[in-house]
Amino acid sequence: MASIKGSANVVIIGGGVIGLTIARALALRGVRDVCLVERAGLGSEASFAAAGMLLPQVEADAQDDFFTLACQSRDLYPSFAAALHEETGIDIELDTTGTLYLALTEHDQQEIETRYDWQSRAGLPVELLSASAARELEPCISDSIRGALLFPNDIQVENRRLLSALANTVSKLGVEIVTQTNVDSLLIEGNCVRGVQTNRGRIECSLAVIAAGSWTSFIKSSSPCRIPEIEPVRGQMICLESKPQLTRHVIYSPRGYLVPRRDGRLLAGSTSERVGFAKYVTAGGIGSILRNALEISPAIANLPIVDTWAGLRPHAAGGLPVLGRCDEIDGLFYATGHYRNGILLAPVTGELVSKEIVSFKR
Ligand SMILES: Cc1cc2nc3c(=O)[nH]c(=O)nc-3n(C[C@H](O)[C@H](O)[C@H](O)COP(=O)(O)OP(=O)(O)OC[C@H]3O[C@@H](n4cnc5c(N)ncnc54)[C@H](O)[C@@H]3O)c2cc1C
Repeated sequence: MASIKGSANVVIIGGGVIGLTIARALALRGVRDVCLVERAGLGSEASFAAAGMLLPQVEADAQDDFFTLACQSRDLYPSFAAALHEETGIDIELDTTGTLYLALTEHDQQEIETRYDWQSRAGLPVELLSASAARELEPCISDSIRGALLFPNDIQVENRRLLSALANTVSKLGVEIVTQTNVDSLLIEGNCVRGVQTNRGRIECSLAVIAAGSWTSFIKSSSPCRIPEIEPVRGQMICLESKPQLTRHVIYSPRGYLVPRRDGRLLAGSTSERVGFAKYVTAGGIGSILRNALEISPAIANLPIVDTWAGLRPHAAGGLPVLGRCDEIDGLFYATGHYRNGILLAPVTGELVSKEIVSFKR
């Protein structure tokens, strides 16, 4: 293995969608000598496991700051996808067909009516559909459906293609990528970042970004600073094959979802389990995903299962991402805790964090 560079201007810890997007945004803002350090391979953890749904409206019950940020990020996707295509030739398969949110029980029906009321009053794009109108749009939907919401602006992206495009563009933009290398600790002197200690040596730097997802809390610091507590929340996934594709829309219910990919894969998800770092698929997890997917569409019963996997969503206290400057340590920035929305929030995270780093003055 080649030896690692001893110094950089900025070190980004973690090569998931968040670290990669920040690396690209920094390079596009003209920041030179950026080094991204990844413990395993680029984009091999939660970002690879995700379903790629960009759905700020589907589950939102209020127009709070998080909702505004999430909508802003979703709305950056068309230009983000076009720019990545221009930079790399990779189509990240941004699919703008929209999302159907189904009511399959009386309780679900009350929930969609409440959501429709506040979102339509707020002037957000959402349509209330009868059961027959929803089934006309997607005939595969169960005939026990009571009604549905159509969110035309809540869309999806092929997150694995997104990761390939980001990896491709950051290396073209001159970001130094160091994989199979773990950052063990931050090197802090006084209250300033001086570098990072990896298992393959030290990299001196005055700016560091922690984008380490579920593993954030393992990074040690040579001075007492409060690195955010991030807890892994396991999500399991099933991949079916449907040729021709069963649905054009993402179909969501309060208990599960189906996401159609262009190549005939049909993703069914997911679970939410606090089981530490046990990143494997279980019989119970697969059972509950299938039950919820069959509730949405009994038509999946005859489809072959072609793959299953699990990933660890990074959950911070309060469920909100931890973004921006650390108050205690000069030169330290956080971009972690994106929980269920890291793919959605990547473009806005890249913009916000890179802007803050560029304007940072000691
Ligand atoms: C089943 C499932 C479905 C999901 N669906 C969606 C969805 O539809 N839409 C959506 O927006 N989000 C979804 N998510 C959530 C989304 O995947 C995450 O929020 C997002 O991937 C977080 O990105 P990240 O870069 O912070 O983390 P990760 O992708 O986990 O990347 C963190 C990286 O940091 C590296 N690392 C950690 N510690 C160190 C260290 N000390 N040194 C060096 N490298 C280190 C890790 O190896 C890893 O590669 C889903 C997640 C799961 C599991």
